Amino acid sequence: MTDDTSEKKIHVTQPFLPPLEEFLPYVEEIWENRFLTNGGPLHQRLERDLADYLGVEHLALFNNGTIALITALQALEITGEVITTPFSFVATTNALIWNKNTPVFVDIDPETLNLDPARIEAAITDKTSAILPVHCYGNPCDMEAIHEIAERHGLKVVYDAAHAFGVRDAQGSVLARGDLATLSLHATKVFNTFEGGAIICPDAETKEHIDQLKNFGIVDELTIKVAGSNGKMSEIHAAMGLAQLGHIDACIDRRGEIDAAYRAALADVPGIEPLPKLGQTRANYAYFPVILDERYPLSRDELYDALRAQNILTRRYFFPLLSQLPMYAGLPSAGAENLPVATEMGRRVLCLPIFPAMEDGDIARICAALRAPVSAGIIPTAAE
Ligand SMILES: *Cc1c(COP(=O)(O)O)cnc(C)c1O
Repeated sequence: MTDDTSEKKIHVTQPFLPPLEEFLPYVEEIWENRFLTNGGPLHQRLERDLADYLGVEHLALFNNGTIALITALQALEITGEVITTPFSFVATTNALIWNKNTPVFVDIDPETLNLDPARIEAAITDKTSAILPVHCYGNPCDMEAIHEIAERHGLKVVYDAAHAFGVRDAQGSVLARGDLATLSLHATKVFNTFEGGAIICPDAETKEHIDQLKNFGIVDELTIKVAGSNGKMSEIHAAMGLAQLGHIDACIDRRGEIDAAYRAALADVPGIEPLPKLGQTRANYAYFPVILDERYPLSRDELYDALRAQNILTRRYFFPLLSQLPMYAGLPSAGAENLPVATEMGRRVLCLPIFPAMEDGDIARICAALRAPVSAGIIPTAAE
């Protein structure tokens, strides 16, 4: 394989930016009305427009997805142990620590890489108060099974839906499920406000409580009800969301085209298997994970390095597992023997570049690079 770093760098993702001339009128509006934050007119408009777009009743915007997740746990007064997945971004379990909860890792399903409901019950103790699943890569969890278990044991369900912007199944938006669900609107996500987040609330009363929690606990000028934090989204961030909303369907459609092009081009490459898209009537194609198996000539890390040498930057989401990080590795549930599927998938998964501005030529270049070790007749090295 020849290294060709002369070709342009393809990052795993690239933030979507709306045309500047669509953003600037909102900035002028801010300069005219001098409302910079604290639930100003753009913030109010974005909350309404996003709720409409997503097909949910109530939504509270936040300054980022991590503070949204911590606030969701606070709002539900989650205590003690919380059952969660080791296969996610570190913010998921960090939020539990900030809320003084103990993460209890349960293994994932080998097909969806989401929390495996069949393994949840064995992890429930008298200290368990909630389940915190993640719709990994935007693929919905087995919510029916999770809710059935939660109901039987009196547990709350909070979804970390950071990847699931706009995802729908036969029952509508997946964001409307569970006791609460949280979104990240970070620059690298499908829909972004530079930095941002949201909590999807089931009713107006919950939204009012959450709005107080994200604003120091302030009820009115003289009344402060609880020790809230500052999770407010500013007007300039809301402006970015409003300018972007008109483009989001086109962005997701383009991601869908890239997803389909990858699947077609990789269908006959042995040992590279894209993750199936199950149960979605509208996917968001937030990521393009592939699972390598023993038929592929290179290990995942060898492939990662080979692509990098050709200026193709992929990500090993989610490796290391959360349970392998120093802060969590000592937990009783963190051992590899408790998490065999996650441990194996963490070694075999690779997320390929996907973002709306990707060109067809980029996809062809990436697929040719993936095919090259097979065409070269490299014999697979024995799996460790
Ligand atoms: C991005 C992400 C978050 C954190 O969101 P921020 O907006 O960056 O704070 C939380 N959970 C998951 C699974 C994520 O991917």
